[in-house]
Amino acid sequence: MIHHHPGDELLLPLAAGRLGAGQAVVVSTHIEGCGECRARLHTLQALGGALLEDTDPVALGPGAWERTLQRLDRPAIEPPSPAPARRSHPALPGDVPWPASLRGCASSGWRWIGPGMRYARIGVPHEPTASVYLLRIGAGRSLPRHTHGGVELTQVLCGAFDDGRAVFGPGDFDAADETVHHQPVVQAGTTCVCLAYVGARMRFDGRMASMIGGWIGM
Ligand code: ZN
Ligand code: ZN
Repeated sequence: MIHHHPGDELLLPLAAGRLGAGQAVVVSTHIEGCGECRARLHTLQALGGALLEDTDPVALGPGAWERTLQRLDRPAIEPPSPAPARRSHPALPGDVPWPASLRGCASSGWRWIGPGMRYARIGVPHEPTASVYLLRIGAGRSLPRHTHGGVELTQVLCGAFDDGRAVFGPGDFDAADETVHHQPVVQAGTTCVCLAYVGARMRFDGRMASMIGGWIGM
């Protein structure tokens, strides 16, 4: 049962292909497991197509055709080379499948960040600088209390956490920003794995957490 979904402010740019690749992998991972959001995305895509069809054609300025041809003659700008994709990926607990949205993404193995806490860095092709992580946090453990310098998107792959605003369980999605100050606490009896996009550096309350956050670029 999924209780928390991405809003239209994320689904609309995703439908239009305008959402940054880092955010798109997190939202797409939610959509993989959520029929409700899949249907909503299809509706928005159909709406976008209908809007384009209804748009009146605009006359091009003089020389537009020649300029387009000249541009096509120029050597193409090399796109930034995507991070090398690793075939293997860090193991997820139990029978949790590796999200299809992460196929083609590079990933590190699990790395220690604290007692009962590990992270894996995800390299997203088309946006290699995006901060995307898998976080694996043991039962009863909590992430240090923090707020955000920008948007933070979280998709729960397994387990559940409570950050004082709500309980987020398997399949749930959360968007937080600088207005949210929280401490996600993993519920007893389950390891929690989340896929997270961190748009700007997190602001931890504690000095130790700030240092560790700085080391891993979170
Ligand atoms: Zn949903
Ligand atoms: Zn947060």
